[in-house]
Amino acid sequence: FPKQKVTIIGSGNWGSSIARVCAQNTIRHPDLFEREVRMWVFEEKIDGKNLTDIINEKHENVKYLPGINLGENVVAIPDVVEAAKGANVLVFVLPHQFVYKVCESLRGVLDKDCRAISLIKGLDYKNNNLLIFSEEIEKILGINCAALSGANIASEVAEEQFGETTIACRDPKDGEIFYKLFHTGYFDVNVIGDWRGLQVCGALKNVVALGAGICDGLHYGNNTKSAVIRRGLLEMRKFGKTFFGGVHTETYFESCGVADLITTCAGGRNRKVAAAFIKSGKSIDEIEKEMLNGQKLQGTTTSQEVYHFLSARNMTQEFPLMTAIYRVIYEHAPPESIALDLRTRNVKV
Ligand code: NAD
Ligand code: 13P
Ligand code: CA
Repeated sequence: FPKQKVTIIGSGNWGSSIARVCAQNTIRHPDLFEREVRMWVFEEKIDGKNLTDIINEKHENVKYLPGINLGENVVAIPDVVEAAKGANVLVFVLPHQFVYKVCESLRGVLDKDCRAISLIKGLDYKNNNLLIFSEEIEKILGINCAALSGANIASEVAEEQFGETTIACRDPKDGEIFYKLFHTGYFDVNVIGDWRGLQVCGALKNVVALGAGICDGLHYGNNTKSAVIRRGLLEMRKFGKTFFGGVHTETYFESCGVADLITTCAGGRNRKVAAAFIKSGKSIDEIEKEMLNGQKLQGTTTSQEVYHFLSARNMTQEFPLMTAIYRVIYEHAPPESIALDLRTRNVKV
């Protein structure tokens, strides 16, 4: 391998936190990586100043990951083509609604030997199908794309609290490079082959987390919330097995499966915003804007995509939890249906 040049495509909450991890590892492995890690930043003004200039002066993303030093070797760049040119490794870490536009602008500008990894949690509903982002990136850009997903709340990784993550890739040689780029003493990487299962988990657990938030908004106790989480895990597995070939049950026991489900249902943004939504009477988009300061929920769009996909196949009743969550969030269904619709028999309480 030539020395690998690494570019992060994205600079939100997780994007900034993972740039910091990569920047530590390019320093740790100078034989493998160029020291500098370029980070594409969707430019915006903060008190009249460019966010990129602030990041390059203070080494801090003051808007999306305040209070954390990213490392002096992280360089913010506002032009995505300039950021990606000449890169050997691209790390895609964007809210899933922006992926296509960004990929389109990279068409034809990448080196042939470039490889990518997607940290995106979501699926894309297109032409009545649900698509996996790593496969979409491969198709659009003509390069290999692996995927990383795990129980990884960005701020906790940035504080170097111990956690695990899962990387999935087809090519074991790529797995070696990615392991070196992401693994640290506090960020424990396991490499597997099931890239579809990993990404189905990463997308659907965000929907289940909305369900956990609905329980919290209703002041339900732990037993109800655990029932929702367990049923969510079963629906995640059934969804993967039914609609995506080759998904392994073992993947659901990796960090990207049950561990990410637990962490997101306990401490994630989807949970938090859904709880506030139940108490407020406003739309979920309004609450998202009020609470997240520009960060983006992924569970809401994913819930719509999953619901439309299931409706088109007359299969909503086979995924009662995913369906109940969608209806509470978007169709004014009574929030209590989150638990009522899970009863296996219609017995009066
Ligand atoms: P985020 O929620 O902080 O999103 C905000 C980012 O979107 C900012 O960088 C902003 O500049 C950018 N943006 C806004 N408008 C844009 C536009 N029109 N075009 C392009 N970019 C635009 O982002 P994040 O937390 O880095 O999440 C990225 C992905 O990582 C998501 O799929 C998420 O599910 C996943 N993820 C997040 C976490 C976490 O804890 N935050 C953990 C694991 C995985
Ligand atoms: P939220 O987007 O709900 O914060 O989940 C973050 C996450 O993916 C943790 O692994
Ligand atoms: Ca779409």
